[in-house]
Amino acid sequence: MAKWTHAVEMKFEIELAEGTRIGGAGAGLDIGGVDLLPIRDPVSREPYLPGSSLKGKLRSILEKEHGLSTNGSPCSCGQKDCPVCPVFGAHIVPGKPPRGSARLTVRDAHFTPEYAKQYKDNPVSETKMENIVDRIRGVADKPRTQERVPAGARFRAEMVLKVFEGDDDRKMVKHLRNALAILEEVDSLGAGGSRGSGRIKIHNLTEKKIALADLTL
Ligand SMILES: [Zn+2]
Repeated sequence: MAKWTHAVEMKFEIELAEGTRIGGAGAGLDIGGVDLLPIRDPVSREPYLPGSSLKGKLRSILEKEHGLSTNGSPCSCGQKDCPVCPVFGAHIVPGKPPRGSARLTVRDAHFTPEYAKQYKDNPVSETKMENIVDRIRGVADKPRTQERVPAGARFRAEMVLKVFEGDDDRKMVKHLRNALAILEEVDSLGAGGSRGSGRIKIHNLTEKKIALADLTL
């Protein structure tokens, strides 16, 4: 088994440039009610970005960019030089042995302390209504409302990449930075990206190498 030598920690802030619909479940499907609510921290009640959503987004960006998705399934090749599998974990195909686990951990992104303070004083959210058009009859049907986290909200994001002996960590980090730039420039977070939701800005990206042998309490 290859030795785990170090980790690369990447920290940055995500600012919503548009209202964003993140995770969350419906509050009921009654007509006129809010169908979709953002996912919230159970204690603070503040909306947050689940690490799994961000991780899934970065993975799907790289898979699309490199043409790695087959019939909509995530890449399962498990090859060392794959831009996706060593970092995100090879997708497990039923009936086949797993081909390597994920090196990347993406933590849940909570509000920055500054934005949390602002939010506490004024817990804003916005409601966006969308019509689902009945294509056969050509009329708007079943208006849906969804609660979005408004533009201007800021989250602290953190990702940690485990690096094993023989890994090309520079290449892995390069792919992650590429995916983040694609997300910022031409993609979006959460649902409804093609309909004016989820554009983000990334600020203050820092990268730190942590040698395991240097760590002590
Ligand atoms: Zn792969």
